[in-house]
Amino acid sequence: STSFALWYQERKRERISKQFEARPIELRSDEVINGVTGLVGNTPLVRINSLSDALGVEILGKAEFLNPGGSVKDRVALRMIDDAERQGLLHPHTGSRIFEGTVGSTGISIATVAKARGYEATIIMPDDVAQEKVQALLALGAQVERVRPASIVDKKQFVNLARDRAKAFGLDDGPSPSLHVPRGHLLPTASSSVIVSTAATDALGEEEALMSPKQEEELRVKPRGFFADQFENRSNYEAHFDATGPEIWRQANGNIDAFVSGAGTGGTIAGTGQFLKSINEDVLVVLADPEGSGLYNKIKHGVMFDRREAEGTKRRHQVDTVVEGIGINRLTKNFELALPIIGDVFRITDAEAVSMARYLVQHDGLFLGSSSACNLVACVKLAKKMRWKEGQRIVTILCDSGSRHYSKHCRNDDYLHNANIPIDSRIVEDLLAQ
Ligand code: PMP
Repeated sequence: STSFALWYQERKRERISKQFEARPIELRSDEVINGVTGLVGNTPLVRINSLSDALGVEILGKAEFLNPGGSVKDRVALRMIDDAERQGLLHPHTGSRIFEGTVGSTGISIATVAKARGYEATIIMPDDVAQEKVQALLALGAQVERVRPASIVDKKQFVNLARDRAKAFGLDDGPSPSLHVPRGHLLPTASSSVIVSTAATDALGEEEALMSPKQEEELRVKPRGFFADQFENRSNYEAHFDATGPEIWRQANGNIDAFVSGAGTGGTIAGTGQFLKSINEDVLVVLADPEGSGLYNKIKHGVMFDRREAEGTKRRHQVDTVVEGIGINRLTKNFELALPIIGDVFRITDAEAVSMARYLVQHDGLFLGSSSACNLVACVKLAKKMRWKEGQRIVTILCDSGSRHYSKHCRNDDYLHNANIPIDSRIVEDLLAQ
């Protein structure tokens, strides 16, 4: 049977080489991606044909929904975890745990990267976010805790609770921005000058070889992990400054008039915007802010809260919102980095976002999440306000897919009806016609 197998292999090789002569294909070994984390980033930039044709202005979207964890947040999760590894905070396959407070996307991204690298994840989230996000988290083996939405000053608010859970696990506070290690730098471990290797996969091998008995003992008794703290963690900003921004610049051939983005943590608009501005300061950076968020007021009037307006609005604490992931009522460290460069801001209603989401399905076959829809409404409003007609280009972020939002966003008429949000496809048509 061995000789039959050899004979068979030989015939197969002959057959393949004959076929190959008839139809030569360039062979490339660099097209195999090394594991799931290799799929993060380098997303395509897609022309939104319906809006671009209607406006004359080119609207380009960075297709972040194509990341393996389904959203732009994969970039941030990977970078925060890379940086934590560099700080010696994580060890593969030893129960190292990452804690995070999130409205969902970041949790899914952290759970994805955690599994790829041999870590565990504990995710604390408000109990009103779309249930498909919880299902994804559970499928990825994350520990999930859902809490009532609350103000950031409340101890039970999801971010505060994530920090508390990390402390109870035996961890110190998350990496402070001052502790942040720039890419490429290696840190000595706490107890000796042994260098921690960068990649988790070689970290285990290399460290095992280099670890002193004292370090081995430390690893046994001391829980490892970190509180990711995406809102304040500078790695978030840097993921976008180092990759999202340069990718966009390259893909758009250096021809960009404006960059439009919403802000949840502020990492995307700050990092990408700062990079684009650093290359060409004429690029206009524009914030797309959903109803109930305080950022619009902060940019327009210098204060987060207009009290009269804030009372009774529904997104005071990300409660029961249609547009998930963007809009916030406090200044995060990441958003602060965007403040000096934001040139304009648009407030986008839930009805506008829902209308845009449906319009894109209808005209482009693009089924996008609510924050992407918000961004695209802002692109249209910007083009109209600037009276841009031809030759200009606006780039935005298509943060995630509509499949993350079935239960709450544009495809759930009952939900929208109960939330008093009109379903009106003419809203976008009217905006385009103005
Ligand atoms: N869209 C979605 C779906 C998100 O989950 C987030 C992050 N919360 C954002 C947009 C906003 O990105 P950033 O945190 O970088 O401001």
